Amino acid sequence: MGDSAETVIVGGGIAGLAVAIALRQRGVETVVLEQASELREIGAGFLLGPNGCAVLERLGALAGLRAGHSVSVPRWELRDMKGRLLSALTIPRDGEHSLSTRRSDLQAALLACLPRETVLPGCEVIRGSFASGGVTLTLADGREWLARRVIIADGAHSKIRASFWPGREPHYLGYIGWRGLVDHVPAGWEGGRVCESWGHGRRFGIAPVGGGRTYWYASANVAGPNCRDRVGIDQLREDFAGWHAPVAEILDTMPDAELLQHPISDLIPPRSWQIEEKVVLIGDAAHPLSPNLGQGASMALEDAWELALQWGRPDAMAQFERKRRWRLRKLWALSRWLGTMIQWENPLLCRGRDVQMRVMPDAVATAMMRRFLRHEPGYTA
Ligand SMILES: Cc1cc2nc3c(=O)[nH]c(=O)nc-3n(C[C@H](O)[C@H](O)[C@H](O)COP(=O)(O)OP(=O)(O)OC[C@H]3O[C@@H](n4cnc5c(N)ncnc54)[C@H](O)[C@@H]3O)c2cc1C
Repeated sequence: MGDSAETVIVGGGIAGLAVAIALRQRGVETVVLEQASELREIGAGFLLGPNGCAVLERLGALAGLRAGHSVSVPRWELRDMKGRLLSALTIPRDGEHSLSTRRSDLQAALLACLPRETVLPGCEVIRGSFASGGVTLTLADGREWLARRVIIADGAHSKIRASFWPGREPHYLGYIGWRGLVDHVPAGWEGGRVCESWGHGRRFGIAPVGGGRTYWYASANVAGPNCRDRVGIDQLREDFAGWHAPVAEILDTMPDAELLQHPISDLIPPRSWQIEEKVVLIGDAAHPLSPNLGQGASMALEDAWELALQWGRPDAMAQFERKRRWRLRKLWALSRWLGTMIQWENPLLCRGRDVQMRVMPDAVATAMMRRFLRHEPGYTA
């Protein structure tokens, strides 16, 4: 037998690092097994709502993130492809934060809250199984770890989820997402302005992340059999020709080699996220959301905090699941529905959608979004 630990976390992404910090704050030491051999700049940018920022603050990671590369977002704009304003959402209230940042900066801010020895890089876990005394995890290099309890946080395409919940893979939703970072902030976009624009079967989002860089994302409908074919930046320039400024300016400065492409998928959260208080799913491993609400990372943070709050109880994992299940189901459904509507191609439907967004008072749209994004992380179990 190889190494052992009381609690092992698989995956050192947002959920895995956050739960390691939250447990440590309660005196529980863990080991995080992360497949990557080093922290690299992957995943481009992130929008973090007030709910995600509230958890980061409790974890002690918000100040580090705000001091580094991130921009406060007081207002989220929705526009049509010509740039006409459809709605302006002022999501954060007094004392709340909403941030635009890079995934790598968020990960670094979380890592800085942990002792170096907690996170073990270069540990790709390929399988898990129940063993006497807990759970055995097998690594790609043949090593084994025995843990009494395992927290599975290895993302949407989790390998370990398949060991315990076989046959649950994310479902392609009919559109592809592209993401990138450019070393440039368009004029007029310096002050934390964030905008998503809707066209016919396409969208484009722009969010400066600080440090002179801008995160952008786009989506377009692509039939299932072609969703893995690579689309280059030249094709995107063609597809988004005629969109409002600064879409072309951003695409013109984007290096093709750094373009990230993902078929957009989600997975209905399983009925049960834990087995016998030995293994539990959190973050994208439990509930991959489509990215339409920009809530995946915030949900991962909320999960981490809630699981740590429950940890001392004999039925901690079951309580965690009970507390989180309905919130995730609602957000999952809203996110999927929003994605369907944003990706409409029919010009009449798109026109109706845009008119409806334009006539809805901003205060009403803001209140609707706040209902979903409001979250007060508890302090004690
Ligand atoms: C196009 C797109 C845009 C998005 N935009 C946003 C946004 O604006 N805002 C937002 O909040 N969310 C966004 N998301 C979602 C967000 O990326 C995820 O919800 C979030 O990263 C989930 O965190 P996680 O820790 O659960 O998983 P991940 O961040 O995926 O982390 C998983 C970790 O596990 C590691 N790992 C994987 N397999 C193994 C293994 N076998 N062994 C060991 N380690 C392993 C990985 O290397 C990684 O470090 C977007 C997603 C997409 C696809």
